[in-house]
Amino acid sequence: MTDLMAGSSVDVFNPADGRLVARVAHESRESVGEKVRTLREAQTEWEALGHKGRARWLFTFQAWLLDHRTHIADVLQSETGKPRAEAELEVPAWVDLINYFAHNAGKFLADERPRPHGPLGWTKTLTTTYRPYPLVGVITPWNFPLAMAGLDVPPALMAGAAVLLKPSEVTPLSALELQRGWDEIGAPKVFAVAIGGSDAGGAVVDAADYVQFTGSTRTGQVVAHRCIEQLKPYSLELGGKDPALVLADADVERAAHGIAWGALFNAGQVCVSVERVYVEAAVYDEFVTKLTQRVRELRQGQDGRCFRFDIGPMANMNQRDIVQRHVEEAIAAGARVTVGGKPTGRGTFFEPTVLVDVDQSMSCIQEETFGPTIPVIKVADEDEAIRLANDSRYGLSASVWTRDTARGQRVARKLDAGAVNINDAIANLFSFALPMGGWKQSGVGSRWGGPAGVRKYCRQTAITEPRLPLVIDEPMWFPYSKARVRLVFGAMRAVGAQGLRRIGLPKEKIR
Ligand code: NAD
Repeated sequence: MTDLMAGSSVDVFNPADGRLVARVAHESRESVGEKVRTLREAQTEWEALGHKGRARWLFTFQAWLLDHRTHIADVLQSETGKPRAEAELEVPAWVDLINYFAHNAGKFLADERPRPHGPLGWTKTLTTTYRPYPLVGVITPWNFPLAMAGLDVPPALMAGAAVLLKPSEVTPLSALELQRGWDEIGAPKVFAVAIGGSDAGGAVVDAADYVQFTGSTRTGQVVAHRCIEQLKPYSLELGGKDPALVLADADVERAAHGIAWGALFNAGQVCVSVERVYVEAAVYDEFVTKLTQRVRELRQGQDGRCFRFDIGPMANMNQRDIVQRHVEEAIAAGARVTVGGKPTGRGTFFEPTVLVDVDQSMSCIQEETFGPTIPVIKVADEDEAIRLANDSRYGLSASVWTRDTARGQRVARKLDAGAVNINDAIANLFSFALPMGGWKQSGVGSRWGGPAGVRKYCRQTAITEPRLPLVIDEPMWFPYSKARVRLVFGAMRAVGAQGLRRIGLPKEKIR
């Protein structure tokens, strides 16, 4: 096989000012292979450590992250240009995830003793056990260079797997900090980072026993094809176009503030960002006024360590161009900007923008923007809001804003989305006890969800064991006889059939 990756390197830029921050060598296929060999060797012992031994290492790593959080935030800012407040959030995300999965993995991975479903199982003790896939490949995007890995690496390690992380080539530096930390604490060599773009990603897919991918829907399809060819399991966390529904009985002030944050956190570069808003006519004007005012107050810029700004730049020029195209196409089709609407002229910054007089056919409603725009559509009622919210190829998350919580619950159940936040935005991203996954083109499978978050990285073994003293022959074994078949079938019918058919009465007698 030709080595597509050898000899090249990744240039890392700060998108706020275009400064070249670092040049990092691409992984060669050979070096990925070496890492994989080391990971696989170390994994056997890692699994044997048991959940308590693994948790001890993860807590040591958690302490290292906390001790180095200022430097890590500096690195994060250097490759993303994020405001300090957002850069400082990423280590706490790891702390929280390690805490949850390290404390609970023992419970989540414990053997289960399910009750037999019927007579054929009654004579058996049934056990389900969980054993990790030896090597999990985690592929991540650039929007949260550290936290995005944190969503999946701790549960996979706690499952007992070794992990090969392939961060985005746009933002590889934070992941290298993770590697440095893991090595510095002297932990078993079950965590490694592979740097590079699609070729390195392909090498990780080929090497792993389970692939956890987060990124665009387009790349997710490529990864899925590759996994299917190799018959290997995967989970895809993909793009979104998340709607917010502001109902007539909403607390409009809270909705405006919450939607401004939900749409503009990380400059809108969040998979579960609010990307479109449907507002009932009765509160539309008030909502637009309050939202515009809130967005106008936001401070945009590059702040280093001093917590001065709310909104940073786009991750790269390509991303800024998508945002600009969506805004320009909307204006050309009749939409109006109430605040923002253009690049600031510095780096990849784009002004936080509210668009009104928007309709459902515009690209800013149909395509994922992944930027600081809030298109707003006026709707006649709740039914129209639900219909338009569901009119999307995506189904990641949604939010409903209403003072009536029963109404919020009812609407939540009608939305085609993997998560719905009532009177809040992005809240599901901080709830590891819930599953996080997308419907439709937003993904396949999910992460977290309590026990499922660790078990997804495991294979199950179903073990049966005779419960009664052993006899020579079981009723189903050879030689067959009418009496044995009647005995077995009679027992199954008695338990499984309905009504009088349980005791074998013929149809005419039942009537
Ligand atoms: P992307 O799909 O371009 O890249 C994601 C990762 O895949 C990168 O590490 C990239 O190098 C790698 N990659 C590219 N080609 C590959 C290939 N052929 N095989 C294997 N790996 C390959 O996505 P992006 O632009 O970095 O991130 C933005 C996207 O991520 C948005 O669509 C956003 O919605 C999505 N996202 C989803 C979630 C979620 O949890 N659902 C979270 C964050 C971001």
